[in-house]
Amino acid sequence: MITTDVLIIGAGAAGLMCAAQAGYRGKSVVVVDMGKKPARKILISGGGRANFTNEGASPENYLCQNPHFVKSALSRYSAQDFIDLVDRHGLQYHHKTLGQLFCDDSAQDLVDILMTECEWAGVAVNLRTEVLSVTKNSQGYLVTTSDKIYHCKSLVVASGGLTMPKLGATPIGYKIAEQFDLNVLETLAALVPFTLHEHDKQRFDGLSGISLLTEITSEDGTSFQENILFTHRGLSGPAILQISSFWRAGQAVTINLLPEYNLSDTLTQWQSEQGQKSVKNLLATLLPKRFVEVLVKEGVIADKPIKQLNHQDIAALSDYLHAWQIKPNGTEGYRTAEVTLGGVNTDELSSKTFESKKQQGLFFIGEVIDVTGWLGGYNFQFCWASGFACGQAV
Ligand SMILES: Cc1cc2nc3c(=O)[nH]c(=O)nc-3n(C[C@H](O)[C@H](O)[C@H](O)COP(=O)(O)OP(=O)(O)OC[C@H]3O[C@@H](n4cnc5c(N)ncnc54)[C@H](O)[C@@H]3O)c2cc1C
Repeated sequence: MITTDVLIIGAGAAGLMCAAQAGYRGKSVVVVDMGKKPARKILISGGGRANFTNEGASPENYLCQNPHFVKSALSRYSAQDFIDLVDRHGLQYHHKTLGQLFCDDSAQDLVDILMTECEWAGVAVNLRTEVLSVTKNSQGYLVTTSDKIYHCKSLVVASGGLTMPKLGATPIGYKIAEQFDLNVLETLAALVPFTLHEHDKQRFDGLSGISLLTEITSEDGTSFQENILFTHRGLSGPAILQISSFWRAGQAVTINLLPEYNLSDTLTQWQSEQGQKSVKNLLATLLPKRFVEVLVKEGVIADKPIKQLNHQDIAALSDYLHAWQIKPNGTEGYRTAEVTLGGVNTDELSSKTFESKKQQGLFFIGEVIDVTGWLGGYNFQFCWASGFACGQAV
């Protein structure tokens, strides 16, 4: 049996950050992970370049049953704190849109930084080690793994959510929480593409690969202005991934296909300036041609000179394209989702230390808890912030 001050389950973003912080405080720390490599999700994130933080990260960018929960950790470890860390290591990175920061070269550079921090802090990272069970005794926790048995005073569960089971996602964190009488909220795949009903799939067959800027709104009134992408399975793209976190089965989403235009004004102007041109050809200057053709076939867009439209036609077309309604069939689920909604109820945890209020020495950080960020580097920022806060407390 190996005895350590702190045992961390999961060598992902949250676990490695926590490990280095605790190590620097002089604690003996062991991280165990069933993977062959550490931080496999970081490696595939952001198309292999990891969108590792967002300069504008604030509590409003997170979904959590208690919207105040994330405030303390995010204020004590900000995006700038993480940028300072990667700057000290000389990471080359760039700004994309909307405050998102990505590695220039490869997400491996980021994993190397975290592993270097762990090495400097004297942390042992034991890979290919699956946690099988946990029990508690008067001195702490006994953790049985596929390799060894560990005894620790502080047990940190940083085992992530359920997305991408191929990359080692397991429900162990939720099981440990339930075993120790902590409430776990229902989980759902989020930041995930939509699948479509058969009739919509047929309508949009042939549009695969088309991307367009939209404003998308869920039934609860949440909106994002980003691109949607038609795929052979349904709808994806950043706007769809964002809204998927707010969508529930059976609901519709409303998509403004021309968020930067007032279409009635544009159509009226075209009538006076280019009255002989067809509605179809004029709209194909604003929307992808193949998409316009689908709407012509369905009779939404008239195949006639624009001067022949009356006021009602203009209002109807404008309403349709500014508030296009789609009822998804479902989502692609955990197989392709980026994150898991729900998880360990934050009411059970201290927002300062992430320790269980019921079980001394038991901590939960990162995606395993009921905190889900928007798309755009917010999820990693919460991993850094919760890992940092917990690393100061274990
Ligand atoms: C395709 C994709 C792209 C993404 N892109 C971004 C992005 O660009 N920016 C962003 O902010 N977020 C992104 N995310 C989300 C982000 O990756 C996660 O929110 C984050 O990795 C969660 O970190 P974590 O440390 O909580 O858990 P994880 O990174 O999931 O780590 C948990 C670890 O626990 C280990 N584990 C689980 N069960 C056991 C067990 N029984 N025994 C031992 N080990 C176990 C796993 O092997 C895993 O290594 C993306 C996610 C995906 C899937």
